[in-house]
Amino acid sequence: MITGPSGVGKGTLIRSLIDRIPALELSVSATTRPPRPGERDGVAYHFLGRDEFDARVAAGDFVEWAEYSGNRYGTLRAELEERLRRGAPVVLEIEVQGARQVRDQLPDAVQVFIAPPSGETLRTRLIGRGTDTQEQVRRRLETAAEELAAQPEFTHVVINDRLEEAVGSLVAIVEHELAAA
Ligand code: 5GP
Repeated sequence: MITGPSGVGKGTLIRSLIDRIPALELSVSATTRPPRPGERDGVAYHFLGRDEFDARVAAGDFVEWAEYSGNRYGTLRAELEERLRRGAPVVLEIEVQGARQVRDQLPDAVQVFIAPPSGETLRTRLIGRGTDTQEQVRRRLETAAEELAAQPEFTHVVINDRLEEAVGSLVAIVEHELAAA
């Protein structure tokens, strides 16, 4: 699982990681956040209404879920279990509260925390990507401060300063873990 604050570049890093190790399969999360332009249902996320999300929480359909910046996000058991049965390596991209739940439930999961080179870089990236309103950026940065404090809890930390170097570190970690599995 790959965790770290919003705006740190988890999505970009994961795309590059899967390009380099195509056997990896990305779990598609569920969220109550509305789709951003270009995000397709079932591809970017499974977009659910709040009631449907909560009903599926009650039904035990989630391995983990968390409230983040006013919306809910979670990993569906269905996304994970069939792949784990097949022995396929699954990648989860999740925020820190969810990562803690996965760590408790799946202690063998490889844990990678992606950190920014500085707090300022996060702010610049969150504003620069232009997907969030000023208020949302403010909330995400507030949450990021707490998330950054959780960094020492995770086995591997990759600093996303220069993209190619960060991808290289991530690939090395995953290749090492896959060889050991
Ligand atoms: P965004 O709204 O930017 O797509 O995602 C907000 C945060 O939710 C990001 O940190 C992202 O990694 C996280 N996230 C995405 N999917 C999941 C999930 O299934 N579970 C949890 N706990 N967090 C998720």
